[in-house]
Amino acid sequence: MKIVNVEPIILRKKGVIQQKADGTQDALIVKVYTDAGITGIGEVDSSPYVVKAAIEAPISHSVCYGLREILIGENPLEINKLWDKMYRFSSWYGLRGVAIHAMSGIDIALWDILGKVTNQPIYKLLGGAFRKKIRAYASTLFPDTPEEMKTITKKNIDLGYTAIKYGWNQFGKDEKRDLLLVEAARKTAGDDIDIMVDAGLGYIDTNKAIQVAKRLEDFNVYWLEEPFPSDNVEAYAKLSDSVDINIAAGERIETHYEFKKLIENAKVDIIQPDITRAGGFTECKKIAVVADLYNKLIIPHGWSTDVLLAATLHFSASLPECKFIEFCIQDSPLRKYLIQEPFKLKDGYIEVRDAPGLGIELNDKVLNEYRIG
Ligand code: MG
Repeated sequence: MKIVNVEPIILRKKGVIQQKADGTQDALIVKVYTDAGITGIGEVDSSPYVVKAAIEAPISHSVCYGLREILIGENPLEINKLWDKMYRFSSWYGLRGVAIHAMSGIDIALWDILGKVTNQPIYKLLGGAFRKKIRAYASTLFPDTPEEMKTITKKNIDLGYTAIKYGWNQFGKDEKRDLLLVEAARKTAGDDIDIMVDAGLGYIDTNKAIQVAKRLEDFNVYWLEEPFPSDNVEAYAKLSDSVDINIAAGERIETHYEFKKLIENAKVDIIQPDITRAGGFTECKKIAVVADLYNKLIIPHGWSTDVLLAATLHFSASLPECKFIEFCIQDSPLRKYLIQEPFKLKDGYIEVRDAPGLGIELNDKVLNEYRIG
């Protein structure tokens, strides 16, 4: 079996893309075609246009290739070998960042092909599922007022969620306002709902972050996510050493090399690789080994379409411990309708599917409606 094409497909909502922390306004789907008629699908949650360029670029020199050219003619089942080939042959502009993002989507598509060829769901190819359903947390943006916070919290609990994460939208700018919002969520949710806070890089002042994190402990917040950029390892380490609340990070970094540094230097409690950016299944398996070495929890980041969600479910099912799956609740057609039979919350959980590969099929009507490249 040979790869005959790698196609990046840009999807974009109608109208103007808004300047807000909503990554579901566009998407990049990858299709890997084979001469056997089997097609693998994957996704990359990055800048669709930049990823498309990384896939389609023609050779510049021996270690500066676009990814498609590297893969044409290769056996799609030799996934480790192809990962290594892409990594080396894109290394002039790659090793991290967008090259790894693009490789992640292709890697997911290769595992989808492997599953379809062997008639197995990916979780079985990863070694089996420790669980067949994973508790979902509703992942949403902070509103502006405590009143809106109450409304959002009640709505998600009524929908069946037992955990909610609020993030971004000015968090970190006004400590008093931030704490009033979280207080409103906790009062509305009662004691039995898990609440998480995503600061979305909202802090510059480490001491202020420590003060707020201590107050968040009073509201029994399960984790505080990404107060600083991942490079600010000293700030993370100081924060982690100063508070009891779990500190989570990792959605913006790639490869197990970076996660090793994040754990060793930043001392975070929970690592959050995004499978569509950190290196796909192949690299996330290595990230899981790193997490195991340091006895850290992995709770993957995932905030895009159901293609990403399907991949995250297989990976999360294969982990010995995985407390939550992130479930993006944005009201976006790309988020909600891109696959046939979209994932649904059932008793607070999302089920892992048993169909071969990722276990999903794209909804071509929706794909074609939003496809722009
Ligand atoms: Mg985040």
